[in-house]
Amino acid sequence: MTDQEIICVECKIIFFSNKPFKNYNSFVCDNCKLNLKIGNRIKLIYTNDPYTELKKGDMGIITDINKIQISINWDSGSRLMMIPDLDIIEVV
Ligand SMILES: [Zn+2]
Repeated sequence: MTDQEIICVECKIIFFSNKPFKNYNSFVCDNCKLNLKIGNRIKLIYTNDPYTELKKGDMGIITDINKIQISINWDSGSRLMMIPDLDIIEVV
């Protein structure tokens, strides 16, 4: 089965999925389910990046989101991007 395009009804980002969806008009992506949206302030819970100086509890603001990664303006000055399947952040 080939991947199908599916659009998140909240952020309008197009994702691809190889799973069948029952209702294409009500798909909400994982980012939106977690309220990860541009401008929201977030806290780092876990990062998969072994080289970053970011630590658990570091805070920043979401500046951009696409289907692959989340750009963050960290208070520490870091520009490390988060990858939803590998890193964990939460809205504060
Ligand atoms: Zn979304």
